[in-house]
Amino acid sequence: MLKLTTENPEETIRFGIEIGELLNSGDIICLQGNLGAGKTCLAKGLLKGLDVEEEVTSPTYTLVNEYEGRLPAYHIDLYRISDHRELYDIGFEEYLYGEGVTIIEWPDKAGPLMPDSYLNITIKSQGNKRLIKVIPQANKYISLVTEMKENVNFSIG
Ligand code: ADP
Ligand code: MG
Repeated sequence: MLKLTTENPEETIRFGIEIGELLNSGDIICLQGNLGAGKTCLAKGLLKGLDVEEEVTSPTYTLVNEYEGRLPAYHIDLYRISDHRELYDIGFEEYLYGEGVTIIEWPDKAGPLMPDSYLNITIKSQGNKRLIKVIPQANKYISLVTEMKENVNFSIG
């Protein structure tokens, strides 16, 4: 597990960029945390780290925003869905099991469609501080987290 605290949105974005740079084809990142925790903020960093140059906006209303960086990148927000069956309409599993990187806010809402293997990131807010934990779910992500520990600039937090 990798744990750190950020003091402001810029630091959260900077951390996102550092992990985004290490992501590979097919990676799935689940972002967990309350409304306003900073999931979208972190996703902006992740997408920057994937060399997405477009402006990133929250997919709360669109469900999915697609980007083209050094890999295809999909930013999904399941907050507004009421039943996982709605995900068949958007081709959720094609995003997950394709060549791109998929970032999911509110992943629990996917219910049985939740992937088995993903990088789990939880964010907790305390005032302007954000406690961020990066936890590999499944072996595939253990080496990624090890690599993050070696590469991420720990001047944060
Ligand atoms: P979520 O997607 O989890 O609902 P957002 O990323 O949309 O959250 O919003 C996070 C809010 O918290 C933003 O208004 C941001 O400016 C604020 N904020 C304050 N401190 C931080 C921090 N350290 N990291 C990230 N966001 C922060
Ligand atoms: Mg959000």
